[in-house]
Amino acid sequence: MHDDVKNYDVIIVGGGLVGATLALALKSYRVALLEAQPRPASEENISGGERAIVLSASSKNILSALNIWPAITAFTESVNEVHVSDKGRFGQVKISAKDEDLPALGFVIQAKYLQKQLSQLLENQPNITVFYEAKCDELCNTQDVGIVKYHTPHGENKISAKLVVAADGHHSAVRQLLGITINSVDYEQSAIVSNIELARDHNNIAYERFTSSGPIALLPLGEKSATLVWTVPHSAVKEIKSLNNEEFTEKVQAIFGYRLGRFIESTPPVVFPIVMHRAAELVRNRVVLIGNAANTIHPIAGQGLNLGLRDVAALVEILVKSDLDQIEALLCQYVDRRRADHLQIINITHSLVGFFTNSLFPLTVARNIGMTVMDCVPVAKRWLSKRSLGHIGYISPLSCGVPMHVEE
Ligand SMILES: Cc1cc2nc3c(=O)[nH]c(=O)nc-3n(C[C@H](O)[C@H](O)[C@H](O)COP(=O)(O)OP(=O)(O)OC[C@H]3O[C@@H](n4cnc5c(N)ncnc54)[C@H](O)[C@@H]3O)c2cc1C
Repeated sequence: MHDDVKNYDVIIVGGGLVGATLALALKSYRVALLEAQPRPASEENISGGERAIVLSASSKNILSALNIWPAITAFTESVNEVHVSDKGRFGQVKISAKDEDLPALGFVIQAKYLQKQLSQLLENQPNITVFYEAKCDELCNTQDVGIVKYHTPHGENKISAKLVVAADGHHSAVRQLLGITINSVDYEQSAIVSNIELARDHNNIAYERFTSSGPIALLPLGEKSATLVWTVPHSAVKEIKSLNNEEFTEKVQAIFGYRLGRFIESTPPVVFPIVMHRAAELVRNRVVLIGNAANTIHPIAGQGLNLGLRDVAALVEILVKSDLDQIEALLCQYVDRRRADHLQIINITHSLVGFFTNSLFPLTVARNIGMTVMDCVPVAKRWLSKRSLGHIGYISPLSCGVPMHVEE
């Protein structure tokens, strides 16, 4: 290795929600975090920050155990009930925190507030160096060390570490540099996101309605307001974008109905193209893929970040017990522990997309019967809520809220 290559314990490529959380979890290591975007000066500078995220109970546990929750709690709204229904049909499922004996089913937060708070927390960590506007574009991955080359507006640089974590999202450069292939599905759909001001209180109920214009989720966020995630085919986006705010609000009201009262106004719709992929490998020598770099899923079930945070929890648990020199051998444990959770969430999400975006008569009947049965059978309902709470497969201590300290 060249003398001018600065060495760290861990390099994390990608400072999104998953990479930034991992960096904070590893704060007793010497961590280099490379983020292609500039340092966020305010929430409004965060690209894609408008999307609302539902954090599951296990994500709350992870963020609490890492002492991140106190910094974000003021920006969250709890979900006490979820109503799933098919517009114009009889089926309905209601899941409530009370029935599950939980304080809440989940917590809604806009991504921009979560990202901003994470970057602020990162600033106070003496062992973590965050390189903003730093894009990884070359990687040398051997059995002993990972060397990452990145460029910034000021030039190129190289750093090395015993462990390199790819948290660089759907288009992961690290994954591509390693030649790791993906299995992908293009749903040819987009998610339309907007905040809607309501005439009445949301009572902390989240709604998921399946309509002939696509599934609509309305999530409680702030006083008398809700955030919309509406899945539509790409072909519908142009027309939706051409509506003025009043027309857009009216359209959403007409499609969703009046379960949440009257909609007063909405913010301009923001479009997120939807994709799904699964990386064929999660580990190569000293590099591990986490978050969207490993699995990108449809937002219909609100599970992408929750899955990525459980990746963080599992990786931290492995690191706590290992010497970084031996990490390569231990990363296979990480793969074993994450496999069931990844597969189940991907399969369930993919099936939900097919089941709930299909308007074929037999399917609409089947899903309405399914929802009615689900609502009347506590065991079936518990099965559904267990999955949405993030209680699947191997459960790491962090997912139960148990703090873990990484030995230096
Ligand atoms: C509309 C919508 C709603 C959603 N709702 C939910 C929900 O309710 N619940 C839930 O759990 N999930 C939800 N998700 C999914 C969730 O947003 C993602 O799973 C999560 O943000 C993934 O985080 P990440 O850090 O892995 O990836 P990203 O957020 O993509 O972050 C990757 C980071 O890497 C950086 N980067 C990329 N390339 C490089 C490079 N070469 N060098 C350095 N840095 C690089 C990028 O700038 C970025 O900051 C939703 C998604 C959408 C689109």
